[in-house]
Amino acid sequence: MPVLVASDLDRTLIYSAAALALTMPDARAPRLLCVEVHEAKPLSFMTETSAQLLTDLGDRAVFVPTTTRTRKQYQRINLPGPPPTYAICANGGHLLVDGATDQDWHAAVLARLSAQCAPLAEVQDHLTRTADPLWLRKQRIAEDLFAYLVVERELLPEEWVKELAVWAENRGWTVSLQGRKIYAVPKPLTKSAAVREVARRTGAGLTLAAGDSLLDADLLLAADRGWRPGHGELADAAWTAPEITALPERGVLAGERILREFLKASRLG
Ligand SMILES: [Mg+2]
Repeated sequence: MPVLVASDLDRTLIYSAAALALTMPDARAPRLLCVEVHEAKPLSFMTETSAQLLTDLGDRAVFVPTTTRTRKQYQRINLPGPPPTYAICANGGHLLVDGATDQDWHAAVLARLSAQCAPLAEVQDHLTRTADPLWLRKQRIAEDLFAYLVVERELLPEEWVKELAVWAENRGWTVSLQGRKIYAVPKPLTKSAAVREVARRTGAGLTLAAGDSLLDADLLLAADRGWRPGHGELADAAWTAPEITALPERGVLAGERILREFLKASRLG
């Protein structure tokens, strides 16, 4: 039975320059591989060692990139290793099979959302009315499924985020703050539901997962074993659960450690 490895990407396996968190002297820094170019500029990185580990993992397990990114944002990432058969985008809203979205899966997700939570328009309207231009840089809709804001983090009042989270909770939505982005995502739109579907299709015997943010909590809980880095929303909340290992590493080196753990566990599985 294959081992399924479902991992978040941003700040779990791949890192922007601002998120690398390198602490050693520059002369001893690991060599980095750029895995994403955006508007002709390098945007995301992993260590060269991580690149080799990910390639090895792809030969040994069913590796499923599992991201909140839109399909378009995902598709500009150029990960090392064999191209994944399955990828999960839009926090579970799209299941890509050989790069193409599975329409049946998407239709089932839309049906679940319309039955179980407030519509996106209501959330979008609330965001438009309450976000302050003082700290709001961009307001975006992702794949017609959820909303996110790009904010000036130093100017963002903590209280506003807390109030938004309560307002959203009452309407069946979750709020997640990651770097300069605030996500508002329907609760029924989960990475774990899509991962369960991939596990069903592949007949996986063991599911491993990793992630750093609140949107990864359900993914970690659904896995047989999981890892979270020493940075990020889950670490800040000291979030933990049985079968979940909280790693001490932060930044791009946490990505390397997570891949080592995936490889080790998939050898055992
Ligand atoms: Mg992440």
